[in-house]
Amino acid sequence: PSPRFDAIVIGAGAAGLLCAAIAGQRGRRVLLLDHWPKVAEKIRISGGGRCNFTNLHTQPENFLSDNPHFCKSALSRFKPQDIIALLRKHRIAFHEKHKGQLFCDDSAEQLITALLDECAAGQVTHWQPCAVEAVEATHPGFRVRTAKGWVSAQALVVATGGLSIPQIGASPFGYRLAEQFGLPIVPPRPALVPLAFDPAQWAPFADLSGVSLEVDIETDHAHRVVRFREDLLFTHRGLSGPAILQASSYWQPGQALRIDLMPGLSEMAWIQSKHGNRRTLVGELGQHLPQRLAHALCAQTGEADRRMADFSDKALRALLQHWHAWPVRPSGTLGWRKAEVTAGGVDTRALSSTSMMALNVPGLHFIGEVVDVTGWLGGYNFQWAWSSAAACAQAL
Ligand code: FAD
Repeated sequence: PSPRFDAIVIGAGAAGLLCAAIAGQRGRRVLLLDHWPKVAEKIRISGGGRCNFTNLHTQPENFLSDNPHFCKSALSRFKPQDIIALLRKHRIAFHEKHKGQLFCDDSAEQLITALLDECAAGQVTHWQPCAVEAVEATHPGFRVRTAKGWVSAQALVVATGGLSIPQIGASPFGYRLAEQFGLPIVPPRPALVPLAFDPAQWAPFADLSGVSLEVDIETDHAHRVVRFREDLLFTHRGLSGPAILQASSYWQPGQALRIDLMPGLSEMAWIQSKHGNRRTLVGELGQHLPQRLAHALCAQTGEADRRMADFSDKALRALLQHWHAWPVRPSGTLGWRKAEVTAGGVDTRALSSTSMMALNVPGLHFIGEVVDVTGWLGGYNFQWAWSSAAACAQAL
């Protein structure tokens, strides 16, 4: 007979590890499976190796989903304070970088070790690497064919993450399994990803690679305007930096983004500055923007060398209005290899927000990034992994 467990968790990433640990410590017999040779690669590489493991200001508004209310229940029951408590218990030092973003002081590896220790404390059976070849419903429960043979369990938890960074183990397994059991999928798309531009359109800015500045970025989403104040980075192929990554999650092909290149400069101050001002337009703009960017923008006006004092108020106002809402139209994203996360995923309208269980498939749960809940940049995606994992584990 195949070994029997209370729950089989597929995917030993952030969500799978925490879910297995909590369920194990609640006395459940848990099998944790992952096909990849190394455990939790995304925790390891996240936050530049220091893992931005949560955000102190986490609110439901920091997440995208076709069903925006879904994340509320799980987020309210396992909060940033709860993952902080786990780090404290394991004596992992951390600090706030900015805007509520918490990072490990030393290494993300410490967090992986802590999660593995928690799994051990819950007597979780952990097979890795071990491929999952097939899943069958047994009414009740599930039978799973793995590289080590058949196993069965009352509950199956899918924690296989999204499609980003295929070179470290991402796979569409979770979506395929959802489809097998008749659950709808919100089409997955790369998110938190740099944006590319048509080379001909981008030529005037291609030399700006490396230029960085703080901007306001705006995009339209579901009949409202979404706005972020973050750093913008020019690259050879287009735009990146936190401002673009944030906007990219909302961006739809064909859409334009509006970038306020000088959010601190008021129209009044700009127009007043012309009086008796012998600086050229490009010289004046260079007071507010990196020189290379000032030159590229002024080159587009054909009036780079005109003195400020010689402009009419109206002309100056028009220029500033343009730079306060500089329109850029990306041609695409840099795709799965550069995306930090996957937007879309298992449609939450088919899941219970308290247990993450499929409403029509008793015992089948989906947690973490495979679900159509996507966080902003800044620790929110790990917080969703923790919160959804804990909600599920309490229900197993
Ligand atoms: P994952 O952590 O991706 O785990 C999924 C697991 O499932 C993997 O171990 C994988 O091997 C396994 N798996 C996949 N397919 C199969 C299969 N067919 N069979 C068996 N196992 C399978 N978020 C933040 O909040 N803060 C950050 O600082 C941050 N930095 C990031 C940096 C980078 C470069 C990237 C790519 C992402 C970053 N993220 C960050 C996002 C964050 O890593 C993910 O949202 C989070 O890891 C999702 O957790 P998860 O457990 O759902 O999925």
